[in-house]
Order: sequence, then C-alpha cells, then structure tokens
Amino acid sequence: MQEQEARTALVEIMRRMHASGLNRGTSGNASLRVRGGMLITPSGIAPEALAPDSMVFVADDGRPDTRGLRPSTEFRMHHHILAARRDAQAVVHCHSRHATILACCGRPIEPIHYMVLVSGGSSVRVAPYATFGTEELARAVVATMAGSRACLMANHGQITIGETWQQALAIAEEVEEQAAVTYGALLIGGAVRLSETALRDAEHAFENYGQAPRPHQRLA
Ligand SMILES: [Zn+2]
Repeated sequence: MQEQEARTALVEIMRRMHASGLNRGTSGNASLRVRGGMLITPSGIAPEALAPDSMVFVADDGRPDTRGLRPSTEFRMHHHILAARRDAQAVVHCHSRHATILACCGRPIEPIHYMVLVSGGSSVRVAPYATFGTEELARAVVATMAGSRACLMANHGQITIGETWQQALAIAEEVEEQAAVTYGALLIGGAVRLSETALRDAEHAFENYGQAPRPHQRLA
C-alpha cells in the first residue's frame, strides 16, 4: 500500500474500532504493510486525536523511526506477524469485551457456529500469556495464529490479519461476535459443537456466498 494511503487508512481503522465498540480509549492498535516496512498507530493517543502523520514507520529490520511519536508498545507483535505472514497486509489488535473474557479464561472459540470459518480456521485458539509489548508475546501470537487469520491472546484480547485492512477489521468484528455467542452459550449450559462434516459443508457453501473473495480463503 502507498504510504499516504496507509496513514489515512490507519486513522479510519482506529475510528471505526472506537465507533463499533471493539475498542475503548487508547488500548487497540493497527498496522499496514508499506514499502520497506510497516506503518503502525502511535502509543497512547486517543482515536479522535489521531491524524495521518501520527503514524510511525517501522522498517523491515524491526526498528521504529525515532523522529516522530513513539509506536504502539505492540510494534514487535505487528512486525513479527507481517514478517511471518506474507498473506497479510494489515494487522488489527483490540481488547473487545467478549473476546477478552474468553481470553482471560483461556477458552478458545470452538466451532459452535459456522461463521467461525471467517477466521480462516474452524476455531480461534488462545496464544499463551506474555507481558504486552514483548518479543515473547510476538512469538506466541505468530505460532498460535498459524493456519488462521485470528487468535485470542491469554488475559489480554484478540488479534487478526487480512489481505486488506477492511478484511482484518471485519474478522475482528466477527471474532468478537463469535466470542459473545460462545460466552452466552456457556452461560446457559454450553453449545452443541458442529461436526467436521458440517464445517466442511459450510466451507463449500461459503464458496457461493457474497461477491468478493472470501475471508477464509487463500491462507499462507
Ligand atoms: Zn493489547
């Protein structure tokens, strides 16, 4: 993506996450791949105060540009994901409520509703806990997200990737919705799990759904 376009898009992502309730305050962050590295949202700036020039460039070697604002404390996690996943152009991280509740309980999103397939897999796993901002957390998330476009992060939140920022954001919204469904199902005694056959059939059915490439396809 062109750098200027990416800067504007990052403002839009943060505003949408705030408007949809995925995020509160300054907790979430997002990044987009650009030539030579990535652009990421800055640390501790409220969405309404963000501007295109607030975004911070982090080079392919993982070093942030030190001339402007400080990058999100999670820049290592975004950098490692974009390095490991050539299918990703965008990374979105937030502490949406239900995803965070499941993550705090160490519970994955199990295949109880076919829309879980939007995540790129039949469940959304939980990455082991590590302190925010660390290399350890970055490595845990990359490993847990293998073969998927989303994971929960133990005692922390959720993270998603996409071929476009719109896709990464749509997956984050669906992860939150599926986490809310899981939470509700657990409250009233637990859901009925979909069988492998039912999931395969739903995957085929998705091939005829919608107008654009489906989010669950073309995983690296
Ligand atoms: Zn976080």
